[in-house]
Amino acid sequence: MSKRAFNFCAGPAALPEAVLQRAQAELLDWQGKGLSVMEMSHRSDDYVAIAEKAEQDLRDLLSIPSDYKVLFLQGGASQQFAEIPLNLLPEDGTADYIDTGIWSKKSIEEARRYGNVNVAASAKPYDYFAIPGQNEWQLSKNAAYLHYASNETIGGLQFDWIPETGDVPLVVDMSSDILSREVDISKFGLIYAGAQKNIGPSGLVVAIIREDLLGRARSSCPTMLNYKIAADNGSMYNTPATFSWYLSGLVFEWLKEQGGVAAMELRNKAKKELLYKAIDASEFYSNPIAKNARSWMNVPFRLADERLDKPFLAGADARGLLNLKGHRSVGGMRASIYNAVGLDAVEALVAYMAEFEKEHA
Ligand SMILES: *Cc1c(COP(=O)(O)O)cnc(C)c1O
Repeated sequence: MSKRAFNFCAGPAALPEAVLQRAQAELLDWQGKGLSVMEMSHRSDDYVAIAEKAEQDLRDLLSIPSDYKVLFLQGGASQQFAEIPLNLLPEDGTADYIDTGIWSKKSIEEARRYGNVNVAASAKPYDYFAIPGQNEWQLSKNAAYLHYASNETIGGLQFDWIPETGDVPLVVDMSSDILSREVDISKFGLIYAGAQKNIGPSGLVVAIIREDLLGRARSSCPTMLNYKIAADNGSMYNTPATFSWYLSGLVFEWLKEQGGVAAMELRNKAKKELLYKAIDASEFYSNPIAKNARSWMNVPFRLADERLDKPFLAGADARGLLNLKGHRSVGGMRASIYNAVGLDAVEALVAYMAEFEKEHA
């Protein structure tokens, strides 16, 4: 068998090897039925059981209260940027948004196409290196909802707290930190996450929505983007992304075997501490983010001399440490250390960083 590299890709990201092996073993002949999951009717008893188990396992992992629907939708997280205002923002209403980086900015731009957006706070005055505290936010009087991104995947900026919005529904883009640490779902009206970071294959997006927020879509909302129609049809108004949903279910099973989200949180904490400690202990590497806003999942870092970026990446590749190049808008390096990236990967990275520094500092 070929050796698997350590994959630090921001997304589509590493998947647990055990999950890929299981999918491979089941690919041609799922549980003795003589066909692949990919070739099954989404209405068949077998597939419905696969889909329902995936949902139940996600509910167990996140302790999702019973008055929330779990939807398995398509179009990735970016489609939600339009879907949210179409469903939750009345044409004469206002939605509050928090700008902490590139993904929040995209969500703001898209929402503006559908109604009034109040950017209640921005990390821009902090160069996107810190998150303004809620005492600095300019919230609207009667916002339809407040939207923020709990983890900015590109900048490596993460909330370590949950905004307090009273009766205003809290909407969060959790694409890159869902399932990475424990979170109280009941604080939110709507949580959504593109699958390709911490869940499964790209294209799928999981939405967890409180039931009282269903049925508010404006009449012009496309059928396929209407949360209530999706919920009423068990996310099967049309043919869902069946294989992605199945594979996500395998990831949820794997997470349960690992000890669930609490166990992942401990593991993720150890991983990020090891990496930030290595960066902070050196004059050669740096990360500019305020300590309390440093992402557990995406760790951007720079080398003291950017002319060394290329040799650093080449040496990393040669060692099987893949996809460490930072986003083109930020430069430098970025190590994405999602659930499926083990402590052994971070240890290998830190060892390589020390070695490279010794040779080049
Ligand atoms: C990756 C990402 C997105 C975009 O996801 P797509 O599935 O490509 O649309 C949106 N928000 C955040 C925070 C992300 O990390």
